[in-house]
Amino acid sequence: MADCVFCKIINKEIPANFVYNDEFVVAFLDINPLNRGHVLVVPKKHYENIFDIEAKILEKIIVIGQKLSQKAKGVLGAEGVNLLNASGGAAEQTVPHFHLHIVPRWEEDGLRMNDWWQSKTKKLSAEELEEIAGKLKS
Ligand code: AMP
Ligand code: ZN
Repeated sequence: MADCVFCKIINKEIPANFVYNDEFVVAFLDINPLNRGHVLVVPKKHYENIFDIEAKILEKIIVIGQKLSQKAKGVLGAEGVNLLNASGGAAEQTVPHFHLHIVPRWEEDGLRMNDWWQSKTKKLSAEELEEIAGKLKS
């Protein structure tokens, strides 16, 4: 896609620090990392997000995400990892080319994602939970 920053990286029109490359998928360092070794796993074909990516490519991406997580643990000494994806404007996706964030974590890294998460949870009644579950399993 002509105006897509990740397509430009894949086509070598703009630089990136690549850490993985095969026929279907690349991974490179995030330019604004949350931690050392924060990488983005990206399909070479332009899919916008989780709603349109082909399942077989998504399977490859998650397996490569696992390998890069293991690598971060092995060579960077990561003690944990968060895998994140934003799909759609409401989810605050900023680059409209599918990408899976791999964020290596350390006990003392100060990110405190769970503090933020817990501060934002919503209280729903048992009836509301049941109604939502009913819709999602239909
Ligand atoms: P999201 O907000 O989930 O769509 O994430 C987009 C990510 O792409 C952000 O973490 C950015 O730092 C990252 N990013 C944007 N441009 C570049 C670039 N040229 N090279 C590497 N990472 C980038
Ligand atoms: Zn693209």
